[in-house]
Amino acid sequence: MIESPLLEKLTGYIGGRWTDNEHGNTFDVYNPATGKVIAQVASMSEDEVNAAIASGKSALRLTSPYSIETRRKWLEDIRDALKANKEEVGRILCMEHGKPLHEAQGEVDYAAGFFDYCSKHIQALDAHTIPEKPKDCTWTVHYRPIGVAGLITPWNFPIGMIAKKLSAALAAGCPSVIKPASETPLTMIALFSLMDKHTDMPDGMVNLVMGKASVIGKALCESPDVPMLSFTGSTEVGRKLIVDTAEQVKKLALELGGNAPFIVFDDADLDAAADNLIANKFRGGGQTCVCANRIFVHEKVADAFGEKLAARVNKMTVGDGINGDVDIGPLINQAGYDKVKRHVQDALEKGATLVAGKKPEELGNDLFFPPTVVHGVNRDMCCYQEETFGPLVPMALFRTEEEVIEAGNDTEFGLASYVFTNDAERAQRVAAGLRFGHCGWNTGTGPTPEAPFGGMKASGIGREGGLEGLFEFVEAQTVPRGF
Ligand code: ADP
Repeated sequence: MIESPLLEKLTGYIGGRWTDNEHGNTFDVYNPATGKVIAQVASMSEDEVNAAIASGKSALRLTSPYSIETRRKWLEDIRDALKANKEEVGRILCMEHGKPLHEAQGEVDYAAGFFDYCSKHIQALDAHTIPEKPKDCTWTVHYRPIGVAGLITPWNFPIGMIAKKLSAALAAGCPSVIKPASETPLTMIALFSLMDKHTDMPDGMVNLVMGKASVIGKALCESPDVPMLSFTGSTEVGRKLIVDTAEQVKKLALELGGNAPFIVFDDADLDAAADNLIANKFRGGGQTCVCANRIFVHEKVADAFGEKLAARVNKMTVGDGINGDVDIGPLINQAGYDKVKRHVQDALEKGATLVAGKKPEELGNDLFFPPTVVHGVNRDMCCYQEETFGPLVPMALFRTEEEVIEAGNDTEFGLASYVFTNDAERAQRVAAGLRFGHCGWNTGTGPTPEAPFGGMKASGIGREGGLEGLFEFVEAQTVPRGF
């Protein structure tokens, strides 16, 4: 069992207090590197979720809103607490997610960056008077908190994803009811433990509920006291939330699946492209929504690029992230592992060749999937159509710019994309043609707190990060004054 001063309670947090879990229902949390149960966490009832919503409602202040200074202080305190406890929060994250310790601790810094960014830009949410005087009135625009927000996060970035949402919600003055993924609730408990000890937020401003997604999701969708849901996860669940909130016309911020194209032109710096692909693709073991999922390489450089990639991949180490400097940890669970295996098998059966990694029949019985490269991928293969969410690099060939833009867009998703070329005009054309919310040019980097990030098409609605993200939890209200 995991021991930590940040995990003294393994229950929910409602109205400024840890819940007592009277009914005693719990669920198990596993370390994917060992397969062992490391904690048993309270599974909460519908009544408790409704109590969390009520407590959020009691913390919402409309007629005498929390000042910008007060909200800035909450954000700064959370930022500072995360930075001061980066090692321990990262250790907990590593043990329940499996990603290498340095990545887990890096994620805590990344999370702190969102609170920092919102604290520095919160002034943008202050009211302003517009310079014109239409209709003989003086017009003031206020940014009102939308109300109690439901924040639902996935397991792949246990602290990063909540930081994106919570920083903007608090900046707006919105109380929240937060539901982490059941694979990774411990990092969230650690965050609540830090907020409990190191911030002076009113009771009910942040509430933690854990347990069955169906119970919690239903309560959040049905409550008239929750006007907004911010969700990161699968497109399937995102669609369900759209349907389940349609009746009440709730505001939704959705960051859903991806199927990122990574395009390498023949004029690209192939070493830089290979280095960036490795850093992008194998982060979190390939389990991120911005990981390259289809690698399109110009036919003239495909063999050379494949060799560079294989040389790098063959040097990568796979193992328990807690024991030093491994490059890739285990996949999150058996279903995740089986999906990657199915994608490799399907690609090989349909004619792709294995450039690096193991054949499906050579794989072991744990959750450690070796980094794998396959060549000769086409659109009939599962790895082209679906997000693999694992350490598989599927390479396809292309000949022309038009052809590769069309192929890149040949998916319902539109989250992240990447293009490597030394021709600036071509890069601009390709970025403009790709219907993705993010298009890295000669970089495999993903989102950052300072810039808006989000999806086009079925990858979602809304943005997180940057000024656009800061405005997600407010509603503009105009007050024209006649006399
Ligand atoms: P993933 O495939 O990344 O696990 P999911 O969409 O299944 O993505 O889960 C993301 C988050 O959404 C998790 O916290 C999960 O518990 C939650 N979730 C799953 N189903 C629902 C639902 N019906 N309503 C609300 N939240 C849900």
